[in-house]
Amino acid sequence: VNTILLNTINGFTNQNNQIYENQTYLQINGHNNKNFELIVFGSIVQDLVSYVDRTPKPGESVRGNLFKNFCGGKGANQAVMASKLGTRTAMMGCVGDDIFAETNISSISQNGVDTSMIEKLKESNTGVACITVTSDGENSIIVNLGANKCLGAKNARNYRSVICNAKMILCQQEIDEDGNYEALRLARENGVTTFYNPAPGNADMNPELLRFCDVICANENEAEFLANRQMLSDEDAQECARIILEKGPKIVIITLGPRGALVAQRYEISEEPHWCWIKAPKVSAVDTTGAGDCFCGSLAHFLLESGFNTNQKDIYSKVNQAVQKAVEIAAISVQRHGAQASYPDCAELYEKGI
Ligand code: ADP
Repeated sequence: VNTILLNTINGFTNQNNQIYENQTYLQINGHNNKNFELIVFGSIVQDLVSYVDRTPKPGESVRGNLFKNFCGGKGANQAVMASKLGTRTAMMGCVGDDIFAETNISSISQNGVDTSMIEKLKESNTGVACITVTSDGENSIIVNLGANKCLGAKNARNYRSVICNAKMILCQQEIDEDGNYEALRLARENGVTTFYNPAPGNADMNPELLRFCDVICANENEAEFLANRQMLSDEDAQECARIILEKGPKIVIITLGPRGALVAQRYEISEEPHWCWIKAPKVSAVDTTGAGDCFCGSLAHFLLESGFNTNQKDIYSKVNQAVQKAVEIAAISVQRHGAQASYPDCAELYEKGI
């Protein structure tokens, strides 16, 4: 009851109402007429997490202190976070034919995200990540993408009208690159805001993608990779953001872990970028897995809530305020174990004054 009350006071959509609304859409309209604010086109991964004193060296075996099994994947994490904040969200993704498939779909769905466009593939495995988290909260990850590799251009084309009716699309890199290309291209051509999180940064990325993106959010490694430049100082970070802006996006955000985030915005080619450094609150991190996803899902929500539209002028402060909130929410998530499992809900944010 408290949660419902707090959500209402805070002006967020209540989770239960949202699930009800989505189900109603399903019954009345079928896929093509569903009207979502946010489409997350991305990965679904089961996270198998070992908490250790230190990461093993090659050939070494270390004892874990704790083991946990979480629902994750960059796409699913981001969709869950945006939905928890009240954004009408649908997930497009692929799972395999195994025990992790249903666990993940039901976790995503319980968080209010529409899962009717998630494909279940026979003779494939759901994505699995083997993660170690050391006592300072840092993680190392091996991800086996499995079915996620099959989320491709055909999925984007099959749900073309759903994508084109949304307000924003959010993509990452744990799927087939052609899928991202087609999803972002379709969205851009139809006036849907395109938000790309090039994570995890890797050499497969098609640099052509950047010209379809309105918003890019990258961590330090990913930004170095996109800009093809090392980042050793604040000046380097600005230079990387400037190089990425020149490739097409209007907003570039570089997340800097415990240091917060750098925001660069430029809406006209001729203008100088507008800069803003946003500090993260000082917290004691126990697990940073999924912090960047928490950030991206929250940012998508707050950009949509602010009525953000890249054709507007004078939206600098709206964007900076949305990033400020995303930084604060991601800082909450690192104080708890897991990715989705660590994300706060509206009631907690209301109590904390966010
Ligand atoms: P990723 O998880 O993608 O590597 P970052 O490490 O840059 O991304 O973290 C994303 C966001 O999570 C940061 O901008 C910050 O808001 C929050 N965050 C991450 N680590 C910490 C930390 N140790 N203390 C406070 N906030 C953190």
